Amino acid sequence: MKKLNQSFRVLCGVCCLAVSAAATFVPAPYGDVTLKGPMGDRLELMLKNHVLATDTTYITAPFLEKTERRGWWQTEFWGKYMHAAMPFWTYTQSPALRANIDAGLANILASQEASGYIGNYPDDLRCGEGWDVWGMKYTMMGLMHYYDGDPSSENGKKALAAARRVCDYVIAQLGPNGARGKRLYQTGNWCGFASSSILEPVVWLYNRTKDQRYLDFATYLVDDMTKAEDGPRLLDLALKDISVADRNGYGNKPDANGGYPMKRNRWKAYEMMSCYQGLIEYSEVTGRQDLLDAAIATCNQIIRDEINLAGGSASSEAWFHGAERQHLPYTRLQETCVVTTWMRFVEKLLAVTGDPKYADELEKAFYNIYLASLNRTGDEFAAYTPLNGYRSRGHHHCYMHTNCCNANGPRGFLAFIRALCGTDGDRVVMNFYASGKQKVHLDKSNKDVIFESYALYPRTGYVRLTNHTVEKGPFTLALRIPAWSANTSIRVNGQKISGVKPGSYCEIAREWTIGDVVDIDFDMALKTHRIGHHIAFTRGPIALARDTRFNDGPIDEVFRRSALQSDYGSRFIPVRSPSEDIWMTFSATLPVGSHHEHPEGENWPEIRFCDYASAANLWEPGNACRVWFPIEWEPSER
Ligand SMILES: [Zn+2]
Repeated sequence: MKKLNQSFRVLCGVCCLAVSAAATFVPAPYGDVTLKGPMGDRLELMLKNHVLATDTTYITAPFLEKTERRGWWQTEFWGKYMHAAMPFWTYTQSPALRANIDAGLANILASQEASGYIGNYPDDLRCGEGWDVWGMKYTMMGLMHYYDGDPSSENGKKALAAARRVCDYVIAQLGPNGARGKRLYQTGNWCGFASSSILEPVVWLYNRTKDQRYLDFATYLVDDMTKAEDGPRLLDLALKDISVADRNGYGNKPDANGGYPMKRNRWKAYEMMSCYQGLIEYSEVTGRQDLLDAAIATCNQIIRDEINLAGGSASSEAWFHGAERQHLPYTRLQETCVVTTWMRFVEKLLAVTGDPKYADELEKAFYNIYLASLNRTGDEFAAYTPLNGYRSRGHHHCYMHTNCCNANGPRGFLAFIRALCGTDGDRVVMNFYASGKQKVHLDKSNKDVIFESYALYPRTGYVRLTNHTVEKGPFTLALRIPAWSANTSIRVNGQKISGVKPGSYCEIAREWTIGDVVDIDFDMALKTHRIGHHIAFTRGPIALARDTRFNDGPIDEVFRRSALQSDYGSRFIPVRSPSEDIWMTFSATLPVGSHHEHPEGENWPEIRFCDYASAANLWEPGNACRVWFPIEWEPSER
């Protein structure tokens, strides 16, 4: 055995073992992954100007009134805020942030009724239409985020006790033989999607208390989520491979009644994914493989049928076969709530399955649509971020100076940080490559492994990882190789590693010494995308866009007909950005404009592109961008 191990190590000094999946990925603890460079700057601004600047006294005030007669969702904002705030407190240890968090918790605890209810609906409207159960879901989550961040403190214990009492209230009202005389999925909207997503914190509560009543209630919810004909039907429709946009109303027929987006249809993206998040948690506890299979099938459908080249999806917050329609001007594209929930969904499946394709999707969403939705000053998330057009603040919701997307936004950054690096058994797994420091603990060998990353990536393909592990010795480093990187170069202390395959993990097993360096060059070859008479470009994980700030002609100009076949990859050259607001700039000489008579091969103008996240980031109507470009038609085409 010893001999085998030695030969393996010698062999792997020069080659890597390409493995299709890690087994189960365990993220590094909060605070052990720090970001520097451009992503560190974006995070710092968001923490300072959004998370820390959110007034928790304000967003918890509605809980102290119980006057919500419009059926709105004021009670979701605090729980969403806590999802990011408590982990970021662990990350920053900021006393000001902790004081802000504690002020909010005090209001929430003070608002709890003897019945256990925390919310803002008057008694006669509770547990009915509207967003009351949804609000209690987020309140339970917020309380458990507090508990997870500081479980042994007095407040931590109070938070967990309060979460139990909220759940006890929900069981008493909407559980078996509940006081409201109906089942939980029969409340709220979209065949029970919104309310049923309470499953996730119910399973969390079971995991933290081991109280069988909560697992029994979770089972009761799962039965309705999978078996009721008029319920969410999250199992059979998924396993029959009925695409998410084709999961219709009762009898699986499209339902035109009930208002936007047809209340009985099962197209609502955010709420559907939130339900699967709970089903995955439940499958982890119970071993129900069919539920995990349904979540995986659904996620794969979304990747295949909905996700666009910027990693975003949804029109009017609903699935719409978005992948094949992404070049068209659909309404209200890529809601930030959908984006952040999608990032959480693939982060969870990455952890459960170890399949690097979920990391590919999370990375694409993060570097494009997510960063595009966060404004330059880090204080605001857009509600919608179209591929073509301009960006702006979202509307205020529920008479409050915030909205669902602003409350959800910070959770996306958290999903990126959580998936960045961690362990899989006794391997160190690196999924993302951003400048900063990563520390993970290998339980089996009881060793802290530390790397420092310096990344020009994704502006270029270059990353250097430097080993800072104090203790010399063997361990395996598994590096994610994105599926789009056809030819990746990896060198360890200058020695080239062979056997690197796209869409896998490259496992490097060797003796590591402090100061060892791993140099990675990803293949950032430009790719041309076409849908019918439209063309677009990506480079590595980055979608490219024209931007009016380059002042290089109308950004809506058509491409000439050669664009129907030609590949322009070699024409894109990185150039210096004209402004600090633009992360990446590329120059390309391309056949745009059909106003002239000269042959197609002549007089191509030089135009500029930037990364989609930077495009139109002035958030002014005068600053527009475009990702998909029309290609001209000729008379014989009808
Ligand atoms: Zn939203």
